[in-house]
Amino acid sequence: KAQIIIIGRPNVGKSTLFNRLVGKKLALVDDQPGVTRDRRFGDANLLGLEFTIVDTAGWEDEDPDTLPGRMRAQTEVSLHGADAAMFVFDTRAGLTPLDEEIARWLRQSTIPVILVGNKAEGRASESGLLESYSLGFGEPIAVSAEHGEGFADLFQALLPHVEGKEVQEDEDEEDLAGPLKLAIVGRPNAGKSTLINAMLREDRLLTGPEAGITRDSIAVDWVWTDPKTKEARPVRLIDTAGMRKKARVVEKLEKMAVADARHAVDFAEVVVLLLDATKGLEHQDLKIAAMALEEGRALIVAINKWDVAEGPSGLFNGIRAALEEGLSQVRGVPLLAVSARTGKGLDELIAAAFELREAWSKRVPTSLLNRWFDDVLEKNPPPAPGGKRIKLRYITQAKTRPPGFVLFGTRLDDLPMSYQRYLINGIRRDLGFDAVPVRLTLRSPK
Ligand code: GDP
Repeated sequence: KAQIIIIGRPNVGKSTLFNRLVGKKLALVDDQPGVTRDRRFGDANLLGLEFTIVDTAGWEDEDPDTLPGRMRAQTEVSLHGADAAMFVFDTRAGLTPLDEEIARWLRQSTIPVILVGNKAEGRASESGLLESYSLGFGEPIAVSAEHGEGFADLFQALLPHVEGKEVQEDEDEEDLAGPLKLAIVGRPNAGKSTLINAMLREDRLLTGPEAGITRDSIAVDWVWTDPKTKEARPVRLIDTAGMRKKARVVEKLEKMAVADARHAVDFAEVVVLLLDATKGLEHQDLKIAAMALEEGRALIVAINKWDVAEGPSGLFNGIRAALEEGLSQVRGVPLLAVSARTGKGLDELIAAAFELREAWSKRVPTSLLNRWFDDVLEKNPPPAPGGKRIKLRYITQAKTRPPGFVLFGTRLDDLPMSYQRYLINGIRRDLGFDAVPVRLTLRSPK
């Protein structure tokens, strides 16, 4: 991770900025007994950009006469190993001799300096901002740490220094080591129970020609051995058939299939929609698939009873086309042919589910994402509806599982849906999220 240090004289708002960037994790840093008081380290997250932040505020309550000397010593220690410094001054108070002195030290060092004019909300900051050009660090970034303003500009200024030093969050890795939470959903008699039995290779669930007769179990934990790598991987199967309990009327079962699927989808990371090859794709199936995607789950469609399928290649292509047509939210949902009866395609199905979970959990480093974004904008800039230019500034991946992206810019209300779709499709195609539901939120920072 990149290390960014905050430097500035007392009372310019270094701690407020630190707290704003570190958020709730601050307490962990602060409450630790025995930690030296002269520097604080925190995990900063600025609109998705992650770095370590170092605050040098600890000595501030001490004797003002010896302050500059101790500050200098401190700063020199802190600069060592830092990737960039945010030099904070107070735009309302204007520059003081101490600010000038800090600027002198910083100019002597080789560290890149980002000049940050704090307390810049409102007009009182204007003369302070102008004055600060004299420090020799170029254009100041105007922020209000207190009010959360100016962070888009700060993001842009920090990006080059954080680039390539981001690390994947530990949480993401932990999630990938955990059991694959898999739900098999579909209409009654698609063969869900039979499929689960076949996966477990023992008759732990009741199946039969009469729909709806199954045990009540909800989750089954087991270990799948990847036949290719011989790796043992934990799976937690969510058994929707088991949730159905003892409903008797088939008509009612049809309706309940969607409700069952909804519950299962809540638990699942990856949802397998099971179709019946003898029945094809029906409206109800598309409804279940769309629901899973709306809930942000990764979706796989499996055509079961392939052993008795008629005209299999025509059937497969027909279903493929119907899915592309009926599910505009994603491109290329994995489609597999399986037979719960013979066991054909089951290992491929599970392998595909693991693979899809990985894409669903993936985080694209902000720097890489914005290099891609610059490219896209160059190739196809946003339109200017009514002659008004829409400015797209940058994009971050705010979350995973499912991936969610936030696009920052101005006049975003006018950004056409077609352009948003163009971006989403680009993210999917270029950044490895093919069959994963991707969300894009638009935000105009202050
Ligand atoms: P569920 O309601 O989705 O749980 O469906 P079941 O697992 O109870 O299966 C319904 C019927 O389809 C049963 O008679 C199964 O034997 C049959 N079936 C399930 N999978 C296959 C398969 O791959 N091939 C064939 N030919 N029949 C299957």
